[in-house]
Amino acid sequence: MSRTALVTGGTRGIGAAISTALRDAGYKVAANYAGNDEAADAFKAQTGIAVFKWDVSSYEACAEGIARVEADVGPIEVLVNNAGITRDAMFHKMTPQQWGEVINTNLTGLFNMTHPVWTGMRDRSFGRIINISSINGQKGQMGQVNYSAAKAGDLGFTKALAQEGAAKGITVNAICPGYIGTEMVRAVPEKVLNERIIPQIPVGRLGEPEEIARCVVFLASDDAGFITGSTISANGGQFFV
Ligand code: NDP
Repeated sequence: MSRTALVTGGTRGIGAAISTALRDAGYKVAANYAGNDEAADAFKAQTGIAVFKWDVSSYEACAEGIARVEADVGPIEVLVNNAGITRDAMFHKMTPQQWGEVINTNLTGLFNMTHPVWTGMRDRSFGRIINISSINGQKGQMGQVNYSAAKAGDLGFTKALAQEGAAKGITVNAICPGYIGTEMVRAVPEKVLNERIIPQIPVGRLGEPEEIARCVVFLASDDAGFITGSTISANGGQFFV
């Protein structure tokens, strides 16, 4: 039996690795993205994975996009809430727009995406929700009050919803990556990366997107059925929870 998985932000970075790993594990995969058609087209050409464009910060767009995925690919049994953005600024300079964009995408996006698939998962008595939070939601990060608040919120969402899904065969878990070598992190100036960030990582390197993807494949599997409301910290030994 081949299950259907939907990965938000599934065409680039960590999400692309997750989409590909789930495909390789035998899932029918749909990869959502926001607006970078060039990257999505290249990803589709390279992997053969179906891509679907909508903005996870809009509830209506999510409901409509999910309906398209379910019609084209199948009922969503595994949802990976991976889409995320940064709008960094020190708090005294942070604008309401920077706050709002990050909260709406990184936190409200989880509600927008999960709510439309929840009833179907309850009806089928099976579901896997996997939320990609962040080490910075666990420890807080200066310059990222918006991002840290949203990612910490993702962990509260995970723990509360896990309790609601448990009796219905639905698990809800989170992964908190540390610094992973995607465009989001490569955008950090090289000097800051080499002199400030990497020296703080005990394993002495950035993580690879595939190292997060393998955690997702495990949490999606039947083998992980007793794990719910949990957080996997995958950060090279930088921070333990
Ligand atoms: P990237 O910037 O490389 O990719 C982000 C993906 O999310 C893209 O596919 C993008 O689509 C999509 N996306 C962004 N906004 C939206 C939106 N509103 N609606 C739909 N899709 C959207 O990010 P990463 O791979 O680095 O990060 C993935 C996740 O992992 C994020 O949640 C991030 O916060 C988290 N994370 C990353 C870490 C890292 O070190 N990289 C560390 C800890 C957590 P498009 O291509 O169209 O722009």
